[in-house]
Amino acid sequence: MVNRMRKKIIAGNWKMNLTVVDAGDLARGIQRDVPEGREVDVVLCPPFTALKDVGSAIEESLIKLGAQDMHWEAVGAYTGEISAAMLRDLYCRYVILGHSERRQYFGETDDTVNRKVAAAMEATLVPIMCVGETLEQREGGETQAVVRRQLEGGLKGIDLGVSRDLVIAYEPVWAIGTGRTASPQQAQDTHAYIREILGEIYDASTASRIRIQYGGSMKPENAEELLEQPDIDGGLIGGASLEVRSFVEVIRAAIPKDPDVSEHEADWGEEV
Ligand code: PEP
Repeated sequence: MVNRMRKKIIAGNWKMNLTVVDAGDLARGIQRDVPEGREVDVVLCPPFTALKDVGSAIEESLIKLGAQDMHWEAVGAYTGEISAAMLRDLYCRYVILGHSERRQYFGETDDTVNRKVAAAMEATLVPIMCVGETLEQREGGETQAVVRRQLEGGLKGIDLGVSRDLVIAYEPVWAIGTGRTASPQQAQDTHAYIREILGEIYDASTASRIRIQYGGSMKPENAEELLEQPDIDGGLIGGASLEVRSFVEVIRAAIPKDPDVSEHEADWGEEV
């Protein structure tokens, strides 16, 4: 079934890679080669140190800027942290929250993710909230319970109203940076389940407009098959976003083949 409502969104998570100069070069290369047009939302999430330069490199384009994390408090004695307002100050539009590496190495919990989602929304940033199970949890048949817990915890008390944008990234931990990808069917099954839970948390119409990205070793060789699944609305790309050619090929794979595919509903989530 062709999805006529949700515009695909491809985001590059550059993690702790690249100097300011290298990040600027990569952003300029992507901007040069990315197909013109509004059919796909493209987001670059460089490290904090490179946000300003990457922002300048893409300012004339439709590419949007995103950060990889933020703190939930607005200001204060939180050494080493960055607030939502600071990200807005650098023209960030998106922020990745609850990435499995933050959960695994930095003690991020559903509660801290929830506070960050609330603070991001308050600052009119669009959260890309990550969920996903470990290999042990998948093998133990716990995938659905894990994503349910992460969604219910991360979105507790979060009011989307009629206009607030939110992106969910389903990233099976066993597929991140490992070269192992969930099969298109495995990914689709979990995406459909995530949409079902979003329908329970909100309602069916809200659930049908929330974009759910897949993340985990997505690359040119597997992007098309994944992105044609009805509930896969884009990709959160790590390794393959660090090279112009592979990232641009993934973006190309997300361009709708059907010219009738409409814009993301009512430009939901456009610049505010
Ligand atoms: C990620 O870290 O969000 C990710 C999906 O990484 P990779 O594409 O390298 O698996």
